[in-house]
Amino acid sequence: MEPTTFVLFGATGDLAKRKIYPALYNLFVDGKLPQSFSLFGLGRREWTDESFRANVEQSVRQFSRREAEDGDSLQRFVRMFRYSVLDIGRKEDYASLLKRVEEREEALGAPPNRLFYLSVGPDFFETIAAHILESGLGSERGWKRLVIEKPFGHDLASARELNRKLSQTFAEEEIFRIDHYLGKPMVQKMGALQQANPAIQALWTNRYIANVQITASETVGVEERAGYYDHVGAVRDMFQNHMLQLLMMAAIHLPHESSSEQVRFKKKKVMQAVVPLQKQDVAAKVVRGQYAAGAISGKPVAGYLSEPGIAPGSMNDTFVAAKLEIDDIYWRGVPFYIRTGKRMKEKSTRIVVEFKEPLQSSSPSGEERGAPNLLVFEIGPKEGITLQLNTKEDGEFKPLRVELHGAQDNVPEAYENLIHDALRGDGTFFAHWDEVELSWQWVQPILDAFADDLAPLRPYAAGSYGPAEAAELLARDGYRWWFDEEPETISEKGEQYAYNANY
Ligand code: NAP
Repeated sequence: MEPTTFVLFGATGDLAKRKIYPALYNLFVDGKLPQSFSLFGLGRREWTDESFRANVEQSVRQFSRREAEDGDSLQRFVRMFRYSVLDIGRKEDYASLLKRVEEREEALGAPPNRLFYLSVGPDFFETIAAHILESGLGSERGWKRLVIEKPFGHDLASARELNRKLSQTFAEEEIFRIDHYLGKPMVQKMGALQQANPAIQALWTNRYIANVQITASETVGVEERAGYYDHVGAVRDMFQNHMLQLLMMAAIHLPHESSSEQVRFKKKKVMQAVVPLQKQDVAAKVVRGQYAAGAISGKPVAGYLSEPGIAPGSMNDTFVAAKLEIDDIYWRGVPFYIRTGKRMKEKSTRIVVEFKEPLQSSSPSGEERGAPNLLVFEIGPKEGITLQLNTKEDGEFKPLRVELHGAQDNVPEAYENLIHDALRGDGTFFAHWDEVELSWQWVQPILDAFADDLAPLRPYAAGSYGPAEAAELLARDGYRWWFDEEPETISEKGEQYAYNANY
């Protein structure tokens, strides 16, 4: 990897502490940082290099997936860190930063390759990009990259405006938009599984697949994020970005050796083929929900409207489910059902591919039918891939769940994968502007319909699987959400029929 100076805006913030420093530490331990690497942390707080290093050390000890190693590895790690006080709006602060960065690069004999990581609110993106250009921090003698966090815009118009402004300083290939779902190891494996396996490739069409179900459910409520979340809702916070990225990753068809450009091109093709929604159709194809009081793991919890900081009578969505159709040769006629919500029964991110039922025709009575075959990708909190087949015992069909890939311990976190890719300049698992724009385009009629109250807000009890209408969305097509049952029953079944393919 080329020598790099990592310039971190928001170095005193929560995300840096919980995710970025632990991720960098694990990359360091794995030998995945450039040989010549320096990090400049920035914030308004009057920290020194020493107090910054102490904070970084503390965050590694608290949040790293690996225990901080004894010996001097943590010390060697934090010695690469420096801190500069910088107020984003103050031009002079960029000049002092540039001076320090240049001195450091000179001491290391390193070219001015600079990665700017913006772990700050999106309102600052434009100002920072303009100052990077003006101050000379974005030197033309080396490369420059911009890593940004979500949210990228609040709607289609604001996302376009933000992109226009950023593109005055950074070219598209220099911008790395983080969607941390793309950094999750299972999401990254999904593409590889298809690319490397002709058997999966052959099955990956409407000839064999009946429907695809994508769920991301959380058990937590709005927590301390009321001020932000009450203006954003599940549709902006989860659906426009993470859920549609999962849809693209599930639906792409990748040639064996795919470059980053090919992946982006294919994802864009998928999104372009998603049948657009009209505002007046939103009520029929999208379920808008909000959690009411209920119980999570047997403990009573408040409804959304009783949470601190939520506007009285708020109509904000904490749950969204939708049916999408992809009009291309692979997926025509295969519904993709997507749902995401807070205060749901279980914490889970999962993709279920349901196959068509050849057994149906061979048993006119229907009684002898086995369950459909299912390919299940567990993305989190535990990862795994299972294939549900049918077997017959005592003349009766029984599901046989074959574990193709079990949960693994201590896998790299999404942020490790993504920061490593950004350091290498590999944009495969970042959200390209075309994808972001097409996603906002698809979601915009939903935002408009919600704003005009054209889709009824459906309450659901905390600790449930969401509003009953989300189940009806599938029932109308003759399907149901898989695994919506008591978790105990699932694990019992899993144990009863588990067969580990490795044995
Ligand atoms: P945070 O804890 O509030 O931290 C904000 C950071 O911005 C602080 O380091 C603060 O430093 C800095 N800052 C604010 N105003 C500044 C100014 N005028 N000049 C210089 N620095 C300034 O926020 P966070 O949770 O770390 O989140 C950072 C960004 O990531 C946000 O955009 C958020 O939407 C996004 N994000 C966060 C998460 C998460 O899990 N936390 C997840 C996804 C995306 P000083 O106070 O020292 O100035």
